[in-house]
Amino acid sequence: MSKRDYYEILGVSKDASKDEIKKAFRKLARKYHPDVNKDPGAPEKFKEVTKAYETLSDPQKRAQYDQFGEADPNQGGFGGGFGGQGFGGADFGFGDIFDQIFNGGSRRRDPNAPRQGADLQYEMSLTFEEAAFGKTTNIRIPKEETCTTCHGSGAKPGTKPEQCAHCHGTGQLNQEQNTPFGRVVNRRVCPYCKGTGKSIKHPCSTCAGTGKMKVNKKIEVKVPVGIDDGQQIRLSGQGEPGVNGGPSGDLYIVFAVKPHKYYQRSGDDVLLDVPVSFAQVALGDEIEVPTLHGKVKLRIPAGTQTGTKFRLRGKGIKNVRGYGQGDERVTVKVVTPKHLSDEQKSLLKKLSALDGNEVDDSDASFFDKMKKKVFKGD
Ligand SMILES: [Zn+2]
Ligand SMILES: [Zn+2]
Repeated sequence: MSKRDYYEILGVSKDASKDEIKKAFRKLARKYHPDVNKDPGAPEKFKEVTKAYETLSDPQKRAQYDQFGEADPNQGGFGGGFGGQGFGGADFGFGDIFDQIFNGGSRRRDPNAPRQGADLQYEMSLTFEEAAFGKTTNIRIPKEETCTTCHGSGAKPGTKPEQCAHCHGTGQLNQEQNTPFGRVVNRRVCPYCKGTGKSIKHPCSTCAGTGKMKVNKKIEVKVPVGIDDGQQIRLSGQGEPGVNGGPSGDLYIVFAVKPHKYYQRSGDDVLLDVPVSFAQVALGDEIEVPTLHGKVKLRIPAGTQTGTKFRLRGKGIKNVRGYGQGDERVTVKVVTPKHLSDEQKSLLKKLSALDGNEVDDSDASFFDKMKKKVFKGD
């Protein structure tokens, strides 16, 4: 039996607007309504019109219809192209495609098909040093495990789950309703088996028939050397268990690195500000600088300006992917003293007096010019 196109049935064009479709339907519904039209072919016509309208008035259904054509499994209207790929070789029948389209795209798969377990995420807090050097630690995460008593079947050992007699293992029930617009089939999740398609007469006492147990699972985590804030690792298969023999999900560990009191991080480099006195930078000095790898001597040449940067090669963090090692970048910050002893004061006064006398010619003229400009309005 060859079906007519929905657009043809309503007598509208393929690009008809919602209003045009509605108008056409109203006209035809009035014409063929069994209460009005006593022609023996009228009820069939009326149904046909209603069905066409139901599809074309719903933008989503209309788009699917335009793409796939009529989606009535009884017509066998679908061509190939819907394989069972991605479902672990389980039965992936025609009903799935039917559901997919008639439930507005929401997937209701075969309840017996293997499904992968959910992925889990865990945030791990690390100190600056732990991130730099890595560590091995154990965490406990609450997760669902396959019940060890029934191995996930939910049935008491020695018994087996049976096919749900209400839905015949499909996990869904069809409910037929006669409405003024004809027979309507509603699908809903089977309330007897809650969509699993299985009936367990003797539930496993450990998991109460769910096939799963809540456990606080201890998992060893190797924090990679050089990991940085916000990075994550994936522990394959450590997520929630799969369903119907499907694989487990994965566990993602996301690292949050706490800030350090002194160090900052820039990629694999460690940044550090080192306070020094005016005398140290003026005269030059050798200072001890902390690094992640112990104290290191740093030579500050005489005449060093505040903000000068020094690089301590290889004293940073090992690259997390193994691409070498970062440096420590030291920034010298000259600190102006807030509290001075009498002796320091008198020495600084002498120094200041000396500065005034030893200004060289070019500088003197510069300052003179500045003073004149600012204060005398020259
Ligand atoms: Zn069990
Ligand atoms: Zn059922």
